[in-house]
Amino acid sequence: MSRIFSGIQPSGELHIGNYLGAVQNWVRLQEGPDRSFFCVVDLHALTGNYDPADLRQRRHDMALTLLAAGLDPDRCTLFFQSAVRAHAELGWVFNTVTPLGDLERQVQFKDKSARQESVITGLLTYPVLQAADILLYRADRVPVGEDQVQHLELSRDIARKWNAKFRPEDSPYFPEPQALLTPVRRLMGLDGQAKMSKSLGNTIGLLEAPDDIWAKLRPAVTDPARVRKTDPGNPDVCNIYSMHKAFSPEPVQAEVRENCSGAKWGCIDCKKTLFTHMEETLVPIRTRAAQLQEKPGTVREIMVQGAERARAVAERTIGEVYDMMGLAH
Ligand code: ATP
Ligand code: MG
Repeated sequence: MSRIFSGIQPSGELHIGNYLGAVQNWVRLQEGPDRSFFCVVDLHALTGNYDPADLRQRRHDMALTLLAAGLDPDRCTLFFQSAVRAHAELGWVFNTVTPLGDLERQVQFKDKSARQESVITGLLTYPVLQAADILLYRADRVPVGEDQVQHLELSRDIARKWNAKFRPEDSPYFPEPQALLTPVRRLMGLDGQAKMSKSLGNTIGLLEAPDDIWAKLRPAVTDPARVRKTDPGNPDVCNIYSMHKAFSPEPVQAEVRENCSGAKWGCIDCKKTLFTHMEETLVPIRTRAAQLQEKPGTVREIMVQGAERARAVAERTIGEVYDMMGLAH
C-alpha cells in the first residue's frame, strides 16, 4: 500500500511557484489509486512573525485556494495540521532521535535564520515536525518542490533512526518517504533573485486579478544578458520562459524560443503571450474560488470532515508508536 502526504503553510497566498512545483501534482495524484493526505500546515506557520487574526483568515484562504485549484474532498483528505494533535506529539518523539547537527546544516534553516535578528528554536526543529507530518500517515511519497528535497532526506534519516531504535531490523514501522517532483521543481521570483516564496513578496498569487498579474509580469526579470530587443535572448536562463514551459502549449513554447533567440520578439511580446496562456489555467481556478467564497460554510465543513478522517489514521499511528516506545496506556 502506498500513501501520499504533502503540506503547505498558510504563511501567505498560494502562488504559482507552489502550484507548479507541488499543488498541481497533488491534484493529479488524488486521481490515482493511493490514499492521499494534504495538509494546511498551520503549526509550521507559527515559526514566522504573524498576527493571530491574520492567520485565522490565511488558513481559511489557503484551504479555499487549494479547493479552487482542484483538490477534491471526495478523492483526498484535506485538513488543518493543528486539528490533528498527534502531529505535535510525533514531532516531539522525533526530536528525541534527531541529531542537532543534522538540523543545523539544513539550507532552509540557514536561509531563513539569516533573515532574522533573533532565531527561534521552531525554525531549527521545523523539519522534525515535517517528518512527523509525513510519517504520521506512514506516507512513502511526498509531492513537493525542490526546496524540500533536503528536508525529505532528513525525514528518511529520522524514520531510519527511529526504526533502528524501536523495531527489529527486519520489520521497520515507518517507510522512508521519497520526494515526487514536477518538471517545474523550482520557480524563481519575479525579481529573479531568489525562489518564489510567500514570505519574500516576489510572487504571483493563484487568485490575483489579471491586471495585477500583468503589472507584475511587465517589469519581471528576464535573461539579464538581453539588454536591447536586437540582442538575442537565451530562453534557458529566462524565468519567463520557465513559466511558458508550465503554462503554454508546446507549439507556443517553440515559437517563443525561436523568436527570443532570434531577437525577433522583445521580452514584452513574450510576456504578453505568457499572460494569455496563464489566464487559460487561472480563469477556471478563479471561478471556482468565487463560487466557494459565496459559501464560506462549505470550506469549513470540508476541513472538519478532513480532520476527522486524518485523525483516525493519526491516532492509530501515535498509539502504536507510544506502545513500542514503552508508553502504553
Ligand atoms: P514560505 O516562504 O512561507 O516558506 P513557500 O512559498 O516556500 O512559503 P511552502 O508552504 O513552504 O511555500 O511550500 C509549499 C510547497 O510549495 C512545497 O512543496 C514547496 O516545495 C513548494 N514550493 C515553494 N516555493 C516553490 C517554488 N518557487 N517553486 C516550486 N515549488 C515551490
Ligand atoms: Mg517554504
